[in-house]
Amino acid sequence: MSLQSTSPTQGTDPFFDLGLLPALCRAVKGAGYTIPTPIQLAGIPLVLDGRDVLGCAQTGSGKTAAFALPILDYLLREPRERGQDGVRALILAPTRELAAQIGDCFSTYGAGTSITNMVVFGGVNKNPQARALRRAPDVLVACPGRLLDLMQNDGLRLDDVEIVVLDEADRMLDMGFIHDVRKIFAKLPEERQTLLFSATMPKEIERLAQSILFEPERIAVDPIASTAEPIHQSVYFVDSKQKQSLLANLLRGEEVERALVFTRTKHGANRVAEKLERAGIPAQAIHGNKSQGARERAMAGFRSGEIRVVVATDLASRGIDVKELSHVINFDLPNISETYVHRVGRTGRAGASGIAISLCSDEERPYLRDIEKLTGTRLQRMILDGQPLPEAEPSRPRPPRPQHGRGGGGGRGPARGHGRPGDGRPRHDAPRTLTGVAQATHAGPRDGAPQNGGSHVNHGAPHAATGERTDGARPARRRRRRRR
Ligand code: AMP
Repeated sequence: MSLQSTSPTQGTDPFFDLGLLPALCRAVKGAGYTIPTPIQLAGIPLVLDGRDVLGCAQTGSGKTAAFALPILDYLLREPRERGQDGVRALILAPTRELAAQIGDCFSTYGAGTSITNMVVFGGVNKNPQARALRRAPDVLVACPGRLLDLMQNDGLRLDDVEIVVLDEADRMLDMGFIHDVRKIFAKLPEERQTLLFSATMPKEIERLAQSILFEPERIAVDPIASTAEPIHQSVYFVDSKQKQSLLANLLRGEEVERALVFTRTKHGANRVAEKLERAGIPAQAIHGNKSQGARERAMAGFRSGEIRVVVATDLASRGIDVKELSHVINFDLPNISETYVHRVGRTGRAGASGIAISLCSDEERPYLRDIEKLTGTRLQRMILDGQPLPEAEPSRPRPPRPQHGRGGGGGRGPARGHGRPGDGRPRHDAPRTLTGVAQATHAGPRDGAPQNGGSHVNHGAPHAATGERTDGARPARRRRRRRR
């Protein structure tokens, strides 16, 4: 990618129009983005303006760029002050996969600039991380546990931090990190800009937000149905013992390009993956008990298409960012409805449509009711060929199947490889659209690892950052630090 190519101009580059430096606009273009997502449209100008932001958005909405781009912009425009030799921007992420992914985004968007970043997380040797941190990267992406360890035992200081991002705050809560997060915030400078992103806003997160944000701007974007092609959701009522064979049949569908299967437990993930392997379907389990190396190998295989199926627990799934994840399958239904929203949000990412299928046993029916209540959506009831739907869930007439984008095949043929009539495989009726999971509101102002285990500092590619706008149109910005 040549960053020396022509500078973007007003009216021709929507990222430039948001106020970003030409060097960043070119990097974004190099990443293949042409149009900002709703969270980017709403968030970038606010962050550039130095505001604290409370963003209700989840992975898949483009939120990483929504904070990474304006942070890079700020770091490029405002050189370090005299004696400021520590980390300037801190991003807290709940899982190592997510942390590594955020670090990659900073490297991609900051390519060709002087801005450095580093990622730290647990499960790998701490000493190389502690040594690399002495070189004071501009941006530090960290999981809370390891960060606290480095602060408490290796003398890492955060006095120079100007911008903090708390990403996936609700996951932090689920994973029991909130206490660590509070301890970290207690050590941050009072004058700072703070951004908090969360897919859901439970009361604890609202309370945390009140204590760490200063007069925040609130942004809410639809976490799932904001794309042109919605997610199709369906449910099979099935005996627990039948789940494994149904899953295998579903995964044999030709249209299953890449599927993420969710189980409630780590043990369950292992068991499901092993049985799939035995059934001739290459699958890998990803969960917290797996070593970092094993996770990374599994993810690399998944990305390259070598493995079509990953079986994961909710916690492990957070950092999985694989484009064109065609299917999400809930082997177990989650007992917390918000978790369903998180899971389903894994498919249909960044403009692509997706399919979410749930396997619901009798005991899980109350969970299904809660999910449908929360999302305001009735999942499409599916039938196994030759087996009637249970009485309580009457079959609905089958409407003509609409055409799908991802090679879905129109007409009355099998949708996305969910079996053919009479072949003993599951049948997928017309897709249902997920709507109403979250309000697609944009509340305007007031109204509304690195693969090496995080031990080195990443630099942008050797290229001079121009750092200047060509049209001089950028309004003067105040210094970002603010008193709270
Ligand atoms: P995130 O929500 O940050 O995890 O982003 C989800 C996916 O969307 C990532 O694969 C990004 O590379 C991609 N993405 C982010 N912004 C855009 C954009 N403006 N246009 C297209 N894809 C994007």
